[in-house]
Amino acid sequence: MVYRQNWGCASEEFRSDTPFLGAESFIRKIRNTKMQSAYINEIFTSLQGEGIYQGVKQIFIRFAGCNLDCDYCDTPESKVKSVKCKVEGEKQEIINPVSSKDLIDLLTHNSSFITHNLGYFHSVSVTGGEPLLQVNFLEELVPQIKKLGLKIYLETNGTLPQELKKIVSLIDFIAMDIKLPSATGKDLFSEHYDFLSVLRSPDGSVGTKDEQISKLANQPTSQPVKIFVKIVLTKKTLDEEIKKSINLIKTVDPEIPLVLQPVTPSNGRLIGDPSPHRRPADEAWPKRRGVYPPERKRILSWATLAKNSLNDVRVIRQKHKLWGVK
Ligand code: SF4
Repeated sequence: MVYRQNWGCASEEFRSDTPFLGAESFIRKIRNTKMQSAYINEIFTSLQGEGIYQGVKQIFIRFAGCNLDCDYCDTPESKVKSVKCKVEGEKQEIINPVSSKDLIDLLTHNSSFITHNLGYFHSVSVTGGEPLLQVNFLEELVPQIKKLGLKIYLETNGTLPQELKKIVSLIDFIAMDIKLPSATGKDLFSEHYDFLSVLRSPDGSVGTKDEQISKLANQPTSQPVKIFVKIVLTKKTLDEEIKKSINLIKTVDPEIPLVLQPVTPSNGRLIGDPSPHRRPADEAWPKRRGVYPPERKRILSWATLAKNSLNDVRVIRQKHKLWGVK
């Protein structure tokens, strides 16, 4: 019964009157171009550098286009549709839009991927940009990737619950961000709440509030996919935003791990870092947008606060740039 009370209060609390603009028009545009093909920014192999699966070897498919404009975005090039999709850095290029057949051919014939048995990879990271903006393509692509014996790891900004619903049964891991108003200029708690609610519902449906309450009363609390939530912390992060995020996760399921990730200064470049992946634009970032990590004591106080309500709370910095990999 306590769960019901929390659900009712929180669902209202996380609702916003601000309409969520941008995603619909982008999706319409993609649907009207060419069926079952997608704009992809790049495909490459690397180590996962964020969250609780840090260090696993993955194939990354970075989708082009995003419905947000986070001030700490470290992949601004992925927000626009490019003519070409890079493969393994500059080694190869394919022309956008890419069909699912092109992609599967690449995974099964390109030397970067077949040098190893595909089973060598932990999973395929479907990332962006925001990959769910091209969900019709994912509906076609993901089953084909799974037929190769690969698992799917979705990296998402957690704002498109209806799109998630279409493919949630095909996903093995989800790294979902909570995007704070101080970083995006938008209140997205309602979208995040609905997104997590899809994950709590075994049949992938969001349903009405009453239906959700009824499901909560009748279903076990186990997750259909392995999910964790990540929040990027900056100097602009507010205590109230963290409290609201913690309350949101607790309301859906306090077992969902929360990763607090202080924003990586200078795009991960440490002084003297010889990383070949540093781009000229990195020099201007984050100073250009005024983004800096918060003080250590604030990070620790948020971690303590979160641990009072959630069972698995970790402070983890981004590592891939530190490791000198993409
Ligand atoms: S959601 Fe991701 S890709 Fe989009 S602007 Fe934010 S950080 Fe960049």
